[in-house]
Amino acid sequence: MADATDRDDRTPHILIVLYPAQGHINPMLQFSKRLQKRGLKISLVTTNFIARTSHSIPSSFPLLTISDGYDDGGFASAESAQIYLDSLRQFGSESLREVLLRLSTSASPADCVVYDSFLSWALDIANEFEISTAVFFTQSCAVADIYYHVYKGLIELPLPDRAIEIPGLPPLQPPEFPSFIHQLGTYPAYYDLLVNQYANVDKADWIFCNTFYELEREVLECLKRIWPAIRAVGPSIPSGFLDGRIEDDRDYGFSLFNPDGDVSLKWLDGRRKGSVVYVSFGSLGKVPAEQMEEMAGCLKSSDWQFLWVVRTSDVEKLPKNFMAETRERGLVVRWCQQLEVLAHEAVGCFVTHCGWNSTLEGVSLGVPMVAVPGWTDQATNAKFITDVWKVGLKAPTNDNGVVNREALLQCIEEVMVGDKSNEIRQNAGIWKVLAQQVFEAGGSFDGVVHEFLTKRVSLF
Ligand code: UDP
Repeated sequence: MADATDRDDRTPHILIVLYPAQGHINPMLQFSKRLQKRGLKISLVTTNFIARTSHSIPSSFPLLTISDGYDDGGFASAESAQIYLDSLRQFGSESLREVLLRLSTSASPADCVVYDSFLSWALDIANEFEISTAVFFTQSCAVADIYYHVYKGLIELPLPDRAIEIPGLPPLQPPEFPSFIHQLGTYPAYYDLLVNQYANVDKADWIFCNTFYELEREVLECLKRIWPAIRAVGPSIPSGFLDGRIEDDRDYGFSLFNPDGDVSLKWLDGRRKGSVVYVSFGSLGKVPAEQMEEMAGCLKSSDWQFLWVVRTSDVEKLPKNFMAETRERGLVVRWCQQLEVLAHEAVGCFVTHCGWNSTLEGVSLGVPMVAVPGWTDQATNAKFITDVWKVGLKAPTNDNGVVNREALLQCIEEVMVGDKSNEIRQNAGIWKVLAQQVFEAGGSFDGVVHEFLTKRVSLF
């Protein structure tokens, strides 16, 4: 590695190594934009497949590619998640090593590798080159805390049938845990990935989390005792929706999906303030058929107008004629500019699967939420939405784990109008202001970047 004197006369070069999924790319990309704004040279590292097939890629960053072993078909063409993740680790490690080697003899060697916590092998490769490292957690700190306790063997598994206390967190009932822990054995490949991301985390120079201090204060304070290098750098969403310090930044700009142009926004333009229910279950699709049916039944029987993102993989689960029968009140799209939609004054509530990005986007834009969590970390996020930040309600599920139409409708009603709604809106407004303050000049984000540039890693 070039020493500090060599580096004095050149701009520090940071590699941002992305995990190939929309919900992972988005926050690290925003973080990259903010570092770039401070004058750092940033290169994004993604897989050959993502680089070749994405609908939009930001032109403001050099893009370096690595292989996941599935250059032609990506994750979808792998035989199983386990096989894909093993391949990503093997081919990703080899090709990241090649990238770092190439850069080491260039005019701009890498000074720091910031990697998604799902790619813990990236730290080992960076260490071979004695390059400093920062791990970036794209899930909440609460979820990071839970998996850490599992990794350390500090939580009884299978979970006992009672509330469980973990430092920094409210007592959690078993169904409020990430699904891979609550329902052990359902996705062993992801369980292993998530639990083992802590195996080398102590070696990282920095631990960045896509959250903000006020939002997860207790858990951050606890984690700081375990990892002094942990810092909150979120909410990592486009600056245009928070502080506006990055010009024209109203889109993540790296989209794996085909955007709908401004169809949704034009449709919203014609609607009354706070009159539309926005429904989205995230980027991965595959909502259970019964849940799709109940959602459709709820929207059809309600009087609310709605905008519903139904991913291509879920379209065939819509009841026949649903779109024709609801055309007067609703619009179904395959993908939309979610942040613009959430910021639109016509939107009155967000029915969400509680992916961490969607959760943070809803919180940061002050949109009341109806939580319909599915798998992975979503149930834990839903718990915080309802019981900790009190910015929404969680719809109860039936014996099949599905929220039926009546329960959904009741939650939507309560979040849209009435006393409960007023309380939720008030809380949502408070969180929105707190999220904006993070990025004000001299705010907590500036403090973290200053530290990052001057201490520990000592990039200058
Ligand atoms: N998103 C979007 N348009 C859509 C649906 C989702 O731009 O129509 C974005 C959303 O803003 C969020 C990301 O996709 O940034 C989804 O990430 P999240 O963590 O919420 O869920 P995941 O897709 O990982 O389950």
